[in-house]
Amino acid sequence: MSTQFLARMFSAYIGIDLGTANCLVFVKDQGVVLNEPSVVAIKVNTHEVRAVGSEAKEMLGKTPENLMAIRPMKDGVIGNYEVTEDMLRHFIQRAIRTVPWFKRILRPRVLIAVPSGITEVERRAVMDSAKHAGAGEVVLVEEPMAAAVGVGLPVAEAAGSMIVDIGGGTTEVAVISLSGIANAKSVRVGGDILDQHIIQHLKKEYNMQIGELTAEQVKITLGSAYPVKDDVCMDVKGLNMIDRIPKVVKVNAAEIRKALQPPISNILEAVRATLDGCKPDLAADLIDRGIMLAGGGAKLAGLDKLLTEETGLPVFVSEEPLNAVVNGTGVMLQENSIWSA
Ligand code: ADP
Ligand code: MG
Repeated sequence: MSTQFLARMFSAYIGIDLGTANCLVFVKDQGVVLNEPSVVAIKVNTHEVRAVGSEAKEMLGKTPENLMAIRPMKDGVIGNYEVTEDMLRHFIQRAIRTVPWFKRILRPRVLIAVPSGITEVERRAVMDSAKHAGAGEVVLVEEPMAAAVGVGLPVAEAAGSMIVDIGGGTTEVAVISLSGIANAKSVRVGGDILDQHIIQHLKKEYNMQIGELTAEQVKITLGSAYPVKDDVCMDVKGLNMIDRIPKVVKVNAAEIRKALQPPISNILEAVRATLDGCKPDLAADLIDRGIMLAGGGAKLAGLDKLLTEETGLPVFVSEEPLNAVVNGTGVMLQENSIWSA
């Protein structure tokens, strides 16, 4: 019997979107079985894991002294090797529980989407973490390719398609043709930096300190890249920096849009630079096919409008932007050719 046959019978096939903000897991024959924030709460002194995912995210900024909530992928790829491994182990084990017992006889085959800009050392680190976390064979795929497959772009055609995946920590821009990445750019700008700009804005304008979770909430409710909802406003709660007393201020979408402009222009620059670096024929394809947005950042109001205005190309937001990458891994792990034998 071939290894391929044995593996197909007796091991699980798992696709993972190891994002800086969210980790999603796809199990073959089942679909997405897990969708959790990439956050781990550990005990400060023993480093023992206390919570993973949404339970740990709720602790961000509110942890008692003996606990700390960590986003191991936050700054770049694997910011914290040990905790990434803990998180992967937790998620792989949870995913494994959803498969029938005979698919647990061999170690799971795991396909992990990683940013296109990562170094060989970082790739190694992801592979090793997954292996230590219980994976058998590990294959890495470039995130923009997975995203493009996940949203159903015709990646195999001899024509260029552009995908822009805006995550928490990074934005990945890629032009894909003939199942390969023709041109790509990965910048360390994403939703987290937008949150930071909101924190700075409230500090400067209102002398008010707010936490990261509040900032993210403000971004989701009020944030925009184009004046499409400038009249919306909301009450924001935080801490007065002068008398250290909790306070509430009314904030409107127009001021948040202005506060978000600097990081938004960095994302725009990445798109422009990728277009600039394209061979003329591929660039020409994009006039008809346009740009597809994916990742949580794609949900920022008016981003599609802004990109259309700035590039002159049609811009689309994928249907489930947060699931684009994991859905792509789900499609790709079905291909026998990606596994060794
Ligand atoms: P990653 O791949 O890095 O894990 P995701 O694709 O899961 O990132 O996207 C997470 C980011 O998307 C977070 O910064 C989150 O705040 C942001 N996000 C989610 N929903 C929205 C929304 N409606 N508007 C703007 N940003 C959003
Ligand atoms: Mg992502």
